[in-house]
Amino acid sequence: MSASAYTSTADITHFIHGKPQAASSGRSQAVYNPATGAVARQLQLASAEDVNAAVASAQAAFPAWADAPPLRRARVMQNFLVLLNQHKDELAAMITAEHGKVFSDAQGEVARGIDVVEFACGVPQLLKGDYTEQVSTGIDNWTMRQPLGVVAGITPFNFPFMVPMWMAPVAIATGNAFILKPSERDPSPSVFIGELFKRAGLPDGIFNVVQGDKLAVDTLLNHPDVKAISFVGSTPIAQYIYETGARNGKRVQALGGAKNHMVVMPDADIDQAVDALIGAAYGSAGERCMAISVAVLVGDVADKIIPKLAERAKQLKIKNGMESDAEMGPIVTREARDRIENYIGIGVEEGAKLVVDGRGHKVAGHEAGFFTGGTLFDHVTPQMRIYKEEIFGPVLACVRAHDFAEAVKLVNDHEYGNGVACYTSDGNVAREFARRIQVGMVGINVPIPVPMAWHGFGGWKRSLFGDMHAYGEEGVRFYTKQKSVMQRWPASVAKGAEFAMPTSK
Ligand code: NAD
Repeated sequence: MSASAYTSTADITHFIHGKPQAASSGRSQAVYNPATGAVARQLQLASAEDVNAAVASAQAAFPAWADAPPLRRARVMQNFLVLLNQHKDELAAMITAEHGKVFSDAQGEVARGIDVVEFACGVPQLLKGDYTEQVSTGIDNWTMRQPLGVVAGITPFNFPFMVPMWMAPVAIATGNAFILKPSERDPSPSVFIGELFKRAGLPDGIFNVVQGDKLAVDTLLNHPDVKAISFVGSTPIAQYIYETGARNGKRVQALGGAKNHMVVMPDADIDQAVDALIGAAYGSAGERCMAISVAVLVGDVADKIIPKLAERAKQLKIKNGMESDAEMGPIVTREARDRIENYIGIGVEEGAKLVVDGRGHKVAGHEAGFFTGGTLFDHVTPQMRIYKEEIFGPVLACVRAHDFAEAVKLVNDHEYGNGVACYTSDGNVAREFARRIQVGMVGINVPIPVPMAWHGFGGWKRSLFGDMHAYGEEGVRFYTKQKSVMQRWPASVAKGAEFAMPTSK
C-alpha cells in the first residue's frame, strides 16, 4: 500500500493487527480540507468493540515483543526511520491537506517527529540499567527497566505526525505495545504510520490505531489491560484524562494547553524580536502549543515595536498551505475559526486596542476556506479573557510592563506554564529569567524552545498533569517500570535466619 491510498477520498479506517480495519460502529465524521472548506474524506469512528479488538491484538503481541532483545527492537526502529525519510514529503502533504499548515512547516513537523525515532534507535543504551557489585559480601544489586504492557496515546489535531512520534517510538522501542487514538480532524497520517511500521518489520499488534472520539478515549481509559496513557491536547481534557486514568490505576502523562509569553527587554535587538514575534505568533496560524500569544513589552519597547508588528501582521501571505510562498494557512475547522474571531470581539469589548483585525479575511479562489487574518492587540491587561484564556489562533496580545520584575511576575502568575521566551542582550537578565521563571520550557532569544528529542517536552502548572515529560529519558522512564534485583549464590549464603534489617557486611 502506498501513501496515495491515504490521500485518496476513501474512508479513513482503523489500523489493527497490521492492517486497515473498518469500524463496526456505523458512525463516521467528515474530515475537511480547511483551505477549500470541502469535505475531503469520511472518518470511521470506533465502537467500544473496535477499541477492545485493538487492545486484545496489542495484549497478544506484547509478550514476544517485550522478550525481543533491545537491539532487535532498535533495528525495526532503524528500518522505520529509513521509510519515514523516504516518505517524509508525502507525510507533510497529508498534514497540510487536513490541518492546513503551510507545507514547509509540515516538513518541519515531520523532521522533528523523525528526531524522536532516531532517539528511540538508541534504546539498548537507554535500557542498560545500573549495577553495583558487592553491596554486601557475596551480594550484587542491579536495576533494570521493563515495559508496562499495552499503552495508549491520545493526540491533538495540531501535530498529527509529530505528537504521535513523541510517544509511539519510545513506547515501542522499550518493549510495549502501543495504541494511537489520533485527532478526528486530521487522522490520515496515523494509518500511514501504521503501514510504515509494518513495512519496517514491526510485529502485528504492536502498533494499532483506533479512530474515534470520546467513546474511544473512555474505552481506553477504563480498559484494565491498558497500563498507561499519554495525552496531548487542551487543559480541560488533559485534567479529565489524568484524573480518570489515575483513578483506574494507570500511569498518566497529560500535556495541556498554553498561553506562552515572550518578554522583550529594552536592550533587545528590536528587529530580531519583531521577526521572532511574527513567526511565533502567526506561524501555523497560532495553532501550536508553543506559539507565542502574549508579548510582554518592557519599558519603552511597546512604542518602538508595535508599529513594526502591525505592518508585518498586515502583510502576512495567507494562502493555501501548498502554495510555495504561503506564510500562514487556514484554521483547522470552521468552528475553530469562528471561535477565534469571537475572541477578537471579546477583546474589543474588554477594552483592548485592536491594532490589526484579522476577522473576515478572504483568500481569492478559496472563498469557502477557513481563513482568518493575523490579529494584533495592544494595551491588553491581565484581567482580560483574551489574556487569560487560550485562543489557539493567530492573535497576538501585547501587554506593557514597567520593568523586568513586573514581566516575570506576570508570567509566573499565569495559570499555564508551557513555553516562554525572553529577548535581551544582557546575560545576567537572561540567566535570572531562566532561573526565576515558573515555566517548563524557556527560550533565551529563541521564540519557540521545543526541546530536542533527547531532552524531553513538558510544561508546568496547568500545562502538564503528571510527573514525567514526553520523549527523551523521561519518556523512557514513563514507558518502563524499574525492578531492583539482589542476588547471592550458595557459597556466600550465611547459615541461620536473620531477623535484623540486612546491612552491608
Ligand atoms: P482536544 O483536547 O480537543 O483534543 C485532544 C484529543 O482528545 C483528541 O484526540 C480528541 O479526540 C480527544 N478528546 C476531545 N474531547 C474529548 C473528551 N471530551 N473526552 C475524551 N477525549 C476527548 O485538543 P485539540 O483541539 O485537538 O488540540 C489543541 C489543544 O492541544 C490546545 O489546547 C493545545 O495547546 C494543546 N496542545 C498541547 C501540547 C503540549 O505539548 N502541551 C501540544 C499540542 C497541543
